Amino acid sequence: MSEPLFRRLCLIGAGLIGSSIARLARERDDIAETIVAHTRKPETLERIRELGFADVVEADAARAVEGADCVILCVPVGAYAGVMAQIAPHLAPGCILTDVGSTKGSVIRDLAPLLPPGIHLVPAHPMAGTEHSGPDAGFAALFEGRYTILTPLPDGDRAATETVAELWRRAGSTVESMDAATHDKVVAIVSHLPHLIAFTICGTADDLAEETREAVLKFAASGFRDFTRIAASDIDMWRDIFLNNRDALLEMLARFTEDSHALARAVRWGEADFIEDRIRRGRRIRRGLIERKQA
Ligand code: NAP
Repeated sequence: MSEPLFRRLCLIGAGLIGSSIARLARERDDIAETIVAHTRKPETLERIRELGFADVVEADAARAVEGADCVILCVPVGAYAGVMAQIAPHLAPGCILTDVGSTKGSVIRDLAPLLPPGIHLVPAHPMAGTEHSGPDAGFAALFEGRYTILTPLPDGDRAATETVAELWRRAGSTVESMDAATHDKVVAIVSHLPHLIAFTICGTADDLAEETREAVLKFAASGFRDFTRIAASDIDMWRDIFLNNRDALLEMLARFTEDSHALARAVRWGEADFIEDRIRRGRRIRRGLIERKQA
């Protein structure tokens, strides 16, 4: 077994993602000697104590990061600027500051200006999750077989980036690097737009007349059910993602709207070839995912 990567690992936020990292670090000997967890609500702090996945549970963010050689932000991306203002003066010299946020341009925008000299920022995004949230929802195997994307800053510390990459490899992830703008476009199409569509379709169904809505719920297994699973996601997290990946999301939505109009036109004019072609493309993409073991 290798040496632990960190002496003192501090998780700011210990919901689905933060508590999964903590559970993983608990399970393995090669990640951290001491695990510190901070969240804001007293009831969440109490629950973390009960669950026992952290060695230190700290109500004060500034005190939580003191002496940590790695701090991972695991809060909704809209909370980053406020959290950073609290912790920045207390980060230990040489500390690695990383995160798990679903948007990366906004994270760099909010963290970089407050970064003290000698602190190494390595933005990261594990592409793993479920529709559940909170400290009870996490599990150590969450990141296994999934991708983690790093978006290192051009002048970022290479050794720190490599340490964060190694953390995610030990979590079972495949690590890839790209710039933040590319990341934000990719996640806009693979994750943010599908969520926007799921929230919208559930709203449309909910607006239907009473008796139709009842029938929708009764026969939901025909496809609607899969949208409801995605639409059951955390409110704070998804509000923040939409507001912090606005440009990329709106660009993908505009393209999607054009494409859906093209399909609607084919339906109106009975253009069977066009319709078949779209279905064939969908099937091909699904096969590709299965072959890459991402289904
Ligand atoms: P979550 O289960 O809702 O947990 C969020 C945690 O952050 C909770 O411990 C919450 O504690 C704490 N928190 C919220 N606002 C805070 C604040 N202002 N100060 C301190 N703590 C605060 O969310 P999650 O799914 O773990 O998501 C965390 C991050 O991971 C987000 O940035 C998200 O974009 C990213 N992410 C999520 C997924 C996914 O599928 N869920 C996948 C990849 C990345 P309290 O109860 O005390 O508020």
